[in-house]
Amino acid sequence: MEEYIAKVLISREELGKRVAELGAEITRDYEGKNLLVLGILKGAVPFMSDLIREIKLPLAYDFMALSSYGASTQSSGVVRILKDLERSVDDVHILIIEDIVDTGLTLKYLKANLKARNPLSVKVVTLLDKAARRQADVTPDYNGFSIPDEFVVGYGLDFNEEYRNLPYVGVLKQEAYEII
Ligand code: 5GP
Repeated sequence: MEEYIAKVLISREELGKRVAELGAEITRDYEGKNLLVLGILKGAVPFMSDLIREIKLPLAYDFMALSSYGASTQSSGVVRILKDLERSVDDVHILIIEDIVDTGLTLKYLKANLKARNPLSVKVVTLLDKAARRQADVTPDYNGFSIPDEFVVGYGLDFNEEYRNLPYVGVLKQEAYEII
């Protein structure tokens, strides 16, 4: 797997340090609030797993799955809910956990969909922000790293469902795209 990585963009150590910082910030901001952490499958799983252990507060967590790229690297702009929340959310502050905000189309749809369910608030933490590619008018409330316009894999992010288990964020060699 690692022979297809052209370069490491964010190392395991940098990820750990930044996730701890985000956890501390979120802990301060949500003190005394009824918090529901909402992980977006599948990409957010490693980040979420590390982040929730740095949030030193009582919380509940749940997941949603939305349609995404599939094997291509282009956003379709069409969002479908493949798995929904298991409960009503009118008594909680929702913190959405995303792996990456790229065009922002997914997040724009998701925020509007959740707000319609009348939660106490909706905020977003993303591991990565590719602001140069934004099409929708959305800004994450917490951002791990701003990255350039490159397709990245690892730490939850996939190419064709592979590479999610890399412990760092990296960029693929051209040949990785050619073997599928
Ligand atoms: P958006 O709707 O913001 O364009 O896209 C959000 C989703 O697209 C992310 O949750 C992720 O699944 C996928 N995505 C966007 N950029 C990348 C990237 O550089 N690498 C990978 N693996 N997925 C990406």
